[in-house]
Amino acid sequence: MRTPEEYCSSLNKMKRNVYIGGDKVGRDDPRLLGNLKVMQTTFQLAQNTDWEGVITAESSITGKIINRFTHLAQNPLDLIKKQKMIRLTATRVGGCIQRCMGQDAIAALSVATKEMDEKLDTEYHQRFMSYLREYQERDWAGACCQTDSKGDRIKRPHEQEDPDAYVHIVEEKSDGIVVSGLKISITMAAVADELLVIPTRALTEKDRYYAVAFAIPADWENVRLITRPAGLRERKKFKCPYTEMGVSESVVVFDNAFIPKERVFMCGEWKFGRRIALLFANSHRFSYTGCKPAVSDVLCGTAALAAEANNIERVSHVTQKLSEIVGTGELAFAAGIAAALYGEKTSSGTFTPNETYANVGRRLMGEFIYHEFNILTEIAGGLSVTLPFEDDFLQEVTKKDLEKLMKRNPQMSYEDACRVWRFVENVAASSMASWYQIAGVHGGGSPIMETIALNIETDYESKKNVAKYLAGINEELDQSKQLKSMPCDLS
Ligand SMILES: Cc1cc2nc3c(=O)[nH]c(=O)nc-3n(C[C@H](O)[C@H](O)[C@H](O)COP(=O)(O)OP(=O)(O)OC[C@H]3O[C@@H](n4cnc5c(N)ncnc54)[C@H](O)[C@@H]3O)c2cc1C
Repeated sequence: MRTPEEYCSSLNKMKRNVYIGGDKVGRDDPRLLGNLKVMQTTFQLAQNTDWEGVITAESSITGKIINRFTHLAQNPLDLIKKQKMIRLTATRVGGCIQRCMGQDAIAALSVATKEMDEKLDTEYHQRFMSYLREYQERDWAGACCQTDSKGDRIKRPHEQEDPDAYVHIVEEKSDGIVVSGLKISITMAAVADELLVIPTRALTEKDRYYAVAFAIPADWENVRLITRPAGLRERKKFKCPYTEMGVSESVVVFDNAFIPKERVFMCGEWKFGRRIALLFANSHRFSYTGCKPAVSDVLCGTAALAAEANNIERVSHVTQKLSEIVGTGELAFAAGIAAALYGEKTSSGTFTPNETYANVGRRLMGEFIYHEFNILTEIAGGLSVTLPFEDDFLQEVTKKDLEKLMKRNPQMSYEDACRVWRFVENVAASSMASWYQIAGVHGGGSPIMETIALNIETDYESKKNVAKYLAGINEELDQSKQLKSMPCDLS
């Protein structure tokens, strides 16, 4: 497994293809430092023996110990450990751990390549598994490029005025393919070793050139990453881990990029577009049952700290509101555990989470995210958006005035109060706050996608049969399917 330093040093050797604010920059650009810090955490913790078995796993391919972010879950326990890893690592970085996207993409590709081979007599699975062996051995961090720019939302890929609205095959050659098009909102692409590209939606036969999946190094020729970093204002005195973290999303431009055959995992199999898209979405929504409870932990902890600073910690409406955040975060976490226990062993050997439980967990957190921020705001008061700048707390004259502002809870020191309110500002009212709100709604797919997934999975007839039985319309209630359904063997 790589150390954080080895990870950064390989990024620094990459060709320049990252654009930020009009500049073509290296991966060591200061605006990417926050994002790098988050990613480094995933390498650093893997070196820590306390995290053994949580952030490390035994590879199902080589039997070697690898970083779990590169691992394919083989059983329910593997999924539960993944969920735990995501929650704990995400808590340490204050929210999104980012590296799960690549893990969810490899899971989707491992299953879909096997199924394509079985149905269509293709040879993708072996090809993908030898790629994955290298991915694990080199301990790569992969970004998942799923979301296409999509142009006119009502039109299908082949109907778009500009074909680049969806990544597509421009040319097929004996040794590979040439692709063009735009993927958007791609988290951590600028700090990734690899880009894993998969379709974003169900496709029709006319969309077959849009049925394409592949992997390439993130600095590949004819690939541009137009990147928007997000982070927090740097602190002068009251430095803290939270402000060192950041994130970035990229518009990933494929401009007639050549993809060698050994890295192509789907090429025209349009019927499997939907399958790969849903496999990734399902795996990623399961990941959300780890990271969203972590976001709840951060919001709940911040609200409780603000309550302490305001000396209202024991007031009943405060404890009531804090328990609401706990209730939702833990319910989503429990949905993840259920998704793992009722998951499915696919023909590839990869174990996938139960779709219903993964989707309800993700949906709950998506619907609740603004409410959690509202609770924090209600408890903290308006200071998060009116707090004077840090310099004013340091300057001699204004410092004396502001000391009075910080006097709320007699048990809390001036310095701690300064830290609490600056942190509340960072969590509740900053560019990162908005990022977490919008990521909470759209990350892993818009809310409608969860509705679609749940409607595919749910047998409404069986629910109607319950009502028919209870209403006296039917004399019998067949529950044989439910009686047989059991959690998977944990081993
Ligand atoms: C912080 C963040 C990080 C992300 N990271 C990644 C990442 O790493 N990798 C990745 O691949 N993606 C990523 N995404 C993208 C995410 O998956 C998308 O935002 C999400 O799928 C919604 O797509 P969109 O943003 O294009 O919105 P749209 O698809 O434009 O949705 C806007 C609205 O239009 C509706 N709509 C869209 N199409 C139709 C239609 N045909 N008919 C009816 N209604 C329609 C939607 O339901 C929604 O209400 C990220 C997003 C965010 C916010």
